[in-house]
Amino acid sequence: MKYYILFGPPGAGKGTHAGAIAQKYNLKHISTGELLRAEIAAGTELGRQAKSLIDAGSLVPDAVVEGMIESAFDTIKGVDGFLLDGFPRNLAQAADLDKILEKRGEAVTAVVALMISDETIRTRIKGRAAVEGRADDANDETISNRIRTYHAQTEPLIEYYKAAGNFHEVNVDGGTIELNRAKVLDLMESFA
Ligand code: ADP
Repeated sequence: MKYYILFGPPGAGKGTHAGAIAQKYNLKHISTGELLRAEIAAGTELGRQAKSLIDAGSLVPDAVVEGMIESAFDTIKGVDGFLLDGFPRNLAQAADLDKILEKRGEAVTAVVALMISDETIRTRIKGRAAVEGRADDANDETISNRIRTYHAQTEPLIEYYKAAGNFHEVNVDGGTIELNRAKVLDLMESFA
């Protein structure tokens, strides 16, 4: 099985490009953010607890997202691998993912990082707010905290995966969606 991590700051286009990648390589796309939003929409206890953290631009507890990831690995069949979007998001989650995969005799195949500037994060998220209607996209303070959370907690993963030798970066700060998708798919082709 292949285990790809689609990495990048909020608004980098992970969700935008995940579908095409997953389809081309027969991967199951797993977005922890989407799974959490589904829990909120369904009105579950987990969703209620996650909502206030998400609306503040903070991370939900590691155990919550790790539980979602493990249950997906256990139950999803008929694919050649997984495309993880929005997970891992801090060093503890990355170390736990390594352990989860090790138990299965597997390892992270590659990290595909979509990189944009902080300024682009803001413009992309603001543009998306009107289209997708996410509460966490509509509030300036939430966006600022998500950017802070990214730099403080998520960015250190770059060094973690560089040290592991499987970090690959694509600059998607400018250009059209089509152009950026072509760049990402080109990189994916180098792993095939
Ligand atoms: P974006 O890519 O715009 O940051 P996501 O859908 O990936 O959006 O995440 C939305 C929110 O869900 C995050 O700000 C965070 O609160 C929560 N979340 C998603 N994935 C994780 C994770 N792996 N660990 C903790 N919280 C997460």
